[in-house]
Amino acid sequence: MSGTHGTQTTAGPVLGDTPPEATSATGEAGDNAAGIAAVGRVARALMPETGVIADPTQLRTYECDGLAHYRVTPALVVLPETTEQLAAVVRACSEHGVPFVARGSGTGLSGGALPRADGVLLVTSRMRTIREVRRADQRAIVEPGVINLDVTRAATPEGYYYAPDPSSQQICSIGGNLAENSGGAHCLKYGFTSNHVLGTELITPQGDVVQLGGLAPDSPGYDLLGTVVGSEGTLGIATTATVRLVRLPEEVRTLLVGFHTTDDAGAATSAIISAGVLPAAIEMMDALAIEAAEAAVHCNYPDGAGAVLVIELDGASAEVEHEYALVEQFCQQNGSFELRLATDATERALIWRGRKSAFAAVGRISPDYIVQDGVIPRTALPEVLRAIAELSSSSGVRVANVFHAGDGNLHPLVLFDGEKDGASEAAEQVSGAILDLCITHGGAITGEHGVGVDKAAYMPKMFTDDDLDTMQLVRCAFDPGNISNPGKIFPTPRLCGEVPGKRKKAHPLVEAGLADAF
Ligand SMILES: Cc1cc2nc3c(=O)[nH]c(=O)nc-3n(C[C@H](O)[C@H](O)[C@H](O)COP(=O)(O)OP(=O)(O)OC[C@H]3O[C@@H](n4cnc5c(N)ncnc54)[C@H](O)[C@@H]3O)c2cc1C
Repeated sequence: MSGTHGTQTTAGPVLGDTPPEATSATGEAGDNAAGIAAVGRVARALMPETGVIADPTQLRTYECDGLAHYRVTPALVVLPETTEQLAAVVRACSEHGVPFVARGSGTGLSGGALPRADGVLLVTSRMRTIREVRRADQRAIVEPGVINLDVTRAATPEGYYYAPDPSSQQICSIGGNLAENSGGAHCLKYGFTSNHVLGTELITPQGDVVQLGGLAPDSPGYDLLGTVVGSEGTLGIATTATVRLVRLPEEVRTLLVGFHTTDDAGAATSAIISAGVLPAAIEMMDALAIEAAEAAVHCNYPDGAGAVLVIELDGASAEVEHEYALVEQFCQQNGSFELRLATDATERALIWRGRKSAFAAVGRISPDYIVQDGVIPRTALPEVLRAIAELSSSSGVRVANVFHAGDGNLHPLVLFDGEKDGASEAAEQVSGAILDLCITHGGAITGEHGVGVDKAAYMPKMFTDDDLDTMQLVRCAFDPGNISNPGKIFPTPRLCGEVPGKRKKAHPLVEAGLADAF
């Protein structure tokens, strides 16, 4: 995988090796050498030889996450097996002022796990134990490196599953999901990761092990768990997650519905939801995305469709039967020309394969592409889709749309050929303009992939200086030394202890030439 704002088929950088606006996120190779050596000694004393990587060639394996456009070789990689080992390494980082970055499976699409050249990458892939499936409590307690789908596999024999299902669920980790507050097709009905993580054991940036939340549905005091979920590794490292398990539904019906236009498909989506029907998932793909999926996985979507909806209904059989009749009616009223109900597991899997392969499938119809991620109120869908189409035709840059229609989470795929002069810049412009559209329509610059290093420069478009300063105060309360994934999320680093509010003069880091002001 490689990409700008997401998966892109070109191997190697398109716009430069390091994020242009965020060199403060990457550090300089050679800095902190003594500290890194000290951290390496602590790690080697605690874990097997294979758990500490310092060989330059092996280090390159970890130089990027799913956003492979940005690459930085870490100074050291550590793969702990236990909380105690990980906490000791974090303590050593804190003692020597060495920045660290947590990494789960490295599938993130915003550069959140981009390493630091002057820091340590802490990889959780050896912490993959599902510690408990507590059927009676409807909870599971899992380590951070556990693969999302493995939680469901463990819970299914008990009649339960783990609901948040990113399309990457076969490879992404629960720790990464927690840090990104990941979504997925079924989050429309069941909510995002933040609705399913009830507790976490966290290693603070000082190396202390603390428990936030737990088995109980809620705990008094400030919602520190809510602060940590979605904080993209900037407030510490999660070493367990206590997650909610959801009862397997009595019945599931998966429908594939063909429409002539995205407007019709969007209107059907709104009609279904405004009637009080809440499907488990409503996903939309436009003609270009369908073309790509057909070429890649032969999913046999309706011929000539300008858009398809994949709709899944689940629950008690009587409820599903009732909702199915309503969905059929609203689709027909809004111009559907074909409605196919999967009759068995194979047909259901084929319908989903088309949707879930869409990001990668676009590589069949374009040498390079950007996976954008923005969110808008669902009712703005038709207007924003039309505006994206206008952007595309005025710029000549093709855009394929595949998205979680039910919750307004857009994933426009901006296609280009990196070999052609100016093509990647034009694609970047269209991609940025789509985020502007999301903001002006009351949405946000990310729906589920996070800010990371990729969208840090967009934060001031959504938030005022005061907003950002307030967020930095929270960050500094957890991490006064600014060593936990520094340089991510925020456009300019703030020094902890600096008083927030309107800056009277340039930020000290700007003056020192280490950061840019936006
Ligand atoms: C093909 C494809 C499809 C995708 N589909 C979706 C989708 O439908 N929905 C969606 O939301 N995302 C999707 N993603 C993005 C990605 O899979 C998610 O963001 C996922 O949660 C990342 O998990 P990871 O284990 O790979 O994390 P990484 O990429 O390793 O890390 C992501 C972030 O989490 C931090 N982190 C990792 N582990 C920890 C920890 N234990 N404690 C604290 N911080 C930590 C990292 O520092 C980084 O900031 C997709 C990606 C791909 C490649």
